[in-house]
Amino acid sequence: MKSPNHLLDAIGTTIFTVMSALAAQHGAINLGQGFPDTDGPQDVIDAAADALRDGRNQYPPLTGVLELREAVAVANRRFYGIEVDPASEIVVTSGATEAITACLMALLNPGDEVVLIEPLYDTYLPVAQLLGATAKLVRLNPPDWALPRAELAAAFGPKTKLLLLNSPMNPTGKVFSADELDFIASLLIKHDVYAVCDEVYEHLIFDGARHIPLMSLPNMRDRCARIGSAGKTFSLTGWKIGYVTAPARLATLIARAHQNLTFTTPPNLQRAVALGLTKDDAYFAALSTDLAAKRDFLAEGLRGIGFIVLPSAGSYFITADFTPLGFDGDDTAFCRHITEHAGVAAIPVSAFYPGTAPRHYARFAFCKREAVLQEAISRLAAHFRVDPARAVMTFSRSCGLE
Ligand code: PMP
Ligand code: GLN
Repeated sequence: MKSPNHLLDAIGTTIFTVMSALAAQHGAINLGQGFPDTDGPQDVIDAAADALRDGRNQYPPLTGVLELREAVAVANRRFYGIEVDPASEIVVTSGATEAITACLMALLNPGDEVVLIEPLYDTYLPVAQLLGATAKLVRLNPPDWALPRAELAAAFGPKTKLLLLNSPMNPTGKVFSADELDFIASLLIKHDVYAVCDEVYEHLIFDGARHIPLMSLPNMRDRCARIGSAGKTFSLTGWKIGYVTAPARLATLIARAHQNLTFTTPPNLQRAVALGLTKDDAYFAALSTDLAAKRDFLAEGLRGIGFIVLPSAGSYFITADFTPLGFDGDDTAFCRHITEHAGVAAIPVSAFYPGTAPRHYARFAFCKREAVLQEAISRLAAHFRVDPARAVMTFSRSCGLE
């Protein structure tokens, strides 16, 4: 038989699914795939349940229910001062994952070049390649993941169509600085390039930092498509509601891509997310302070075990260098080992690099209940034979509440 699509054949099953399955098989605490272990706000869940029962269960409009498009427009103004027309500049998708693919479909033709920043989220490169585009990879390096400006500039050329930017960034927890964003904007203008901005962690940003959408910078409004995810903003990752804000000309094409992918997205969940986006400032503040406390707790525990923990300014994740533990093997072996033998799963950071990669970092998700994080730390401490008192402290102590 003729061989099927060789690009899909080559990429295999996503690391998140692989590690979650391994965690389940070994009864491990899953600090791998990024999802909270408690559901998001009850009023949003109730709104979804109510919205199942009032007779609006048929296909919603292609670009999303009006309530949600309006709510996304209002959120753009409220959080970032970006003025948006909900009728022509918002497209609701089935998760940010679909939004990323739809944006790339809207912009790329075979032969175009796309600039991607490593380490990168696992759908970016395969989708660009499936569309016949060529990726130019620019690498950020630990421990600070600073933007290498000369290398970024060198990646742009006459064929460059778009840059894909993820901030706050998975897996590094990096938040691009205002200065870095200015530099990126100058390159986009100089080379007449678009940006697809994966901003799923826009509200998961810590220590008083502010998320700055590239789109909010001067002259960027017409060059950027910015993507949000209700899964992250409302701790409901299974819902898969994404939303794209883009200039009308581009939004039309993103909608055309969406019409060929899923066509529409469940209306009930959309209506509940619309309610969620109107939540008060206290909700958004608590989301990030709660997560920051969990980050600090897990980071402290991992340091007590001997990991070198890198800073994380946003997202669900911290990356940790396991070299000091003396493990004989690379990051994939390490993550497998701790899942099978310590009962804690993590993601090997090399999975975020298509080619050569650093091999001594593991990514841990901290979006879990304190008791679960505590148990994970205890298990790792016991496995690596660390005095548990050094590694484990109470959650309230780590958060400075005691
Ligand atoms: N982009 C990044 C950087 C992510 O980490 C994720 C993880 N879920 C997504 C996109 C996909 O978001 P969604 O679940 O809304 O499809
Ligand atoms: N974004 C999540 C992560 O990075 C996983 C999403 C997925 O499993 N595709 O862990």
